[in-house]
Amino acid sequence: MRRFRSLSTRLTLQFALLFAGAMLTVSAALWTVIAGAASSQVEHQLQASGAVYDRLWQQRTHELQSAAQLLAHDFGFRAAVATGDTATVQSALANASRRLSIRTAFIVGLDGKVVAIDPAVPADEAQRLWEPLDEGRLSGVAVLAGQPRQLVAAPVLAPMLIGWVVFAPTLDEQEMRGLERLSAIPLRAAVLVRTSNNGWAAAGGSISKLDQLPVAIAKARSDGGQALDLAVDGDSSIAIAKPLTTFTSGDRATLLLAYPKADALRSARKLQLALAVMTLLGLALAALATWRASARIIQPLARLDEAAGRLALGEHVQVRVRGEDELARLATSFNEMVGKIEERERRITQLAFNDVLTGLPNRTMFQQQLDHAFRALDGSSAQIALHCLDLDQFKAINDTLGHPAGDALLIETGRRLSNAARGNFVARLGGDEFVVLQTLDGDRNAIDRLAQQLIAAIGRPFSIDGNELMPSTSIGIAIGPEDGGDGGTLLKSADLALYRAKESGRGSFAFFEQGLNERAQVRRQLESDLRLALDRGEFELYYQPLFDLASNRICSFEALLRWNHPRRGVVLPGEFIAIAEETGLIVPIGAWALRQACHEAVTWPEDTRIAVNASSVQFHRGGFQETVLQALAASGIDPKRLEIEITESIFLEGSDATLKLLHSLRGLGVRVALDDFGTGYSSLSYLQSFPFDKLKIDRSFIHNLLTRPGASAIVRAITELADALGIETTAEGVEETAQLQELRAHGCSSVQGFLFAQPMSASEVAQLFRDGLPAQNVA
Ligand code: C2E
Ligand code: CA
Ligand code: CA
Repeated sequence: MRRFRSLSTRLTLQFALLFAGAMLTVSAALWTVIAGAASSQVEHQLQASGAVYDRLWQQRTHELQSAAQLLAHDFGFRAAVATGDTATVQSALANASRRLSIRTAFIVGLDGKVVAIDPAVPADEAQRLWEPLDEGRLSGVAVLAGQPRQLVAAPVLAPMLIGWVVFAPTLDEQEMRGLERLSAIPLRAAVLVRTSNNGWAAAGGSISKLDQLPVAIAKARSDGGQALDLAVDGDSSIAIAKPLTTFTSGDRATLLLAYPKADALRSARKLQLALAVMTLLGLALAALATWRASARIIQPLARLDEAAGRLALGEHVQVRVRGEDELARLATSFNEMVGKIEERERRITQLAFNDVLTGLPNRTMFQQQLDHAFRALDGSSAQIALHCLDLDQFKAINDTLGHPAGDALLIETGRRLSNAARGNFVARLGGDEFVVLQTLDGDRNAIDRLAQQLIAAIGRPFSIDGNELMPSTSIGIAIGPEDGGDGGTLLKSADLALYRAKESGRGSFAFFEQGLNERAQVRRQLESDLRLALDRGEFELYYQPLFDLASNRICSFEALLRWNHPRRGVVLPGEFIAIAEETGLIVPIGAWALRQACHEAVTWPEDTRIAVNASSVQFHRGGFQETVLQALAASGIDPKRLEIEITESIFLEGSDATLKLLHSLRGLGVRVALDDFGTGYSSLSYLQSFPFDKLKIDRSFIHNLLTRPGASAIVRAITELADALGIETTAEGVEETAQLQELRAHGCSSVQGFLFAQPMSASEVAQLFRDGLPAQNVA
């Protein structure tokens, strides 16, 4: 949530500012409108008050004029003025003044003389009135004795004009206040008069400081008689200035009506205050609303944010957001995305830890499981048994029936193992290699039982593409921790045990023994030595003679490999041929043997053949025909003198290609012999498929020839069959004279064995040809 606080603040601020801007604009506009309306209302009221004042003024002028005329027409008064009877005039004026409640009234004579003047009014000021009076002016404002006054005059006629009676009431504070009271609004009034001698006089009601006003008024009047803004007694006021008629031309008089703005706009101020309060309230509400609204947006975002964080940590998360808006849709998409990520993770894990073909755990997962099992063993007396399985002859099935069939067999094997393993961990390590990890609860017999169950499960017939297969498996078993203190060692031990199980034949199981380890080490050493032997020239060929029984002479030699090992001395083929075949080293070694045999045999008498053994691996790896051609070419030996010995194991893989190769060898003129005849499963059947030049009857038959009943009959059957097919026969391993006699009787073509000669070196062969064979051997 914290991460979004600033966003929320920002949103709130921005929206609040926007609202504030709008509200302030509206408020300001309203404010001006209110102020404007109030001002114009006040101005209107001022104008109205001005009009009222005008009427009052006229009324008073009229009243004073009537009184002055009445007095001027009075016969006695006229006579008193005409005769200069001052006392009578004065008493008449005093009477009129009292009636009109004015103080100042006097007579201005035709000659300008002033009679019965108020002693407060200087006579010369009154005398100056003569001129306007003479011009006929009878009313107006004038300043007398420093005070503005309303002057009203009436001519005194006797019957000729003899002077004027003048009433001059002051326009003083009292007068002004009276005027102020008459107004509907609390205005302030003042009269200002400017005289021709540049002096000025003023009378104000509630206005006390009048000094500044004339200048301001003069300025305002030049603006056109509109309402003006004036500071009246320090109060900013709205005012109007009304010109008054002056008595003396050249003077100027003004009535000022002012209304302090504070009073004038009081009601407007109230409105404005209300407006301001409402604006502030609106702002607060707007801020609150945006804050709430942004919170409503931010909250789901924050939840999504938090969920994304937890997702990154590998947790399973789902976000719930109500509604159908964009945020809700985002949450839905997020949830879908989480589901897809999890699905993908599951698939990745599946791929990383499971074998694609069988769906079983793979090597990686097995290793983890094994490590886990070892950790669980730690410190306890518990044990685990590791069963290592490998299908017998899987390669042959794969090669003959094709990979899809091989795959089907592997899948079926995985299924059968999982069923038979009874909850124990099963994995496929690769190829046809499987493992079962068994946890033991003290009963060692359980290991044998499980192994037997596994073998039985795999051993059930399996048909694929119309072929009925009889699969079988061998199992090597190692027990942890005694056969290996960690996963890697235990697996190696089980592998060695598997190797041993394979040696004892299909469908068997074997336990790991300490000796296996050493044997394996010896074998590994032999293998690495073998890789170097050819380059180091450690191989040598020995030759064993074959005796032709019809001619009683050596007809042929069989080339037999010897390895002169630098430390172990002479190593026989039985110890290294199998390794050479497994590693493929037999191909270059066999090629060397072929070249070497031809090279040496070419020096022998013409009628002596050379027989060379060929492994099925040489046949199937390709290039064998070229090897033969090269050996023949390099030595220059007659191909008819070369005989290739093969065993029927050669037909186990792809017999068509094999037959083609045999025929092309025959095409070169090379002879082909079937070695170890009678030991295989179907030796006889091969006789039909290829016209061999020779059968070499396996030495096991010769060994048992005189001791085991039936052996002699078998050898006779073979020689007779071969005879009928036009094939030569050689009896191998002839060690006794009795055997030789029996074989002669059976019609064997030739014999080979220690009775005549051991395999010998090339130099010994050369010596043999020089000296001849010792006589006792030939018998
Ligand atoms: P093989 O082809 O059956 O060779 C005959 C074996 O019988 C030879 O053993 C020979 O020493 C032995 N032998 C001969 N006469 C007697 C006898 O009277 N009694 C007994 N007990 N044994 C006799 P070696 O030399 O140890 O060879 C063993 C096998 O190694 C050979 O069996 C052959 O299969 C293979 N081998 C030898 N040299 C080569 C070779 O150059 N290439 C290939 N691919 N295999 C070879
Ligand atoms: Ca042989
Ligand atoms: Ca043989």
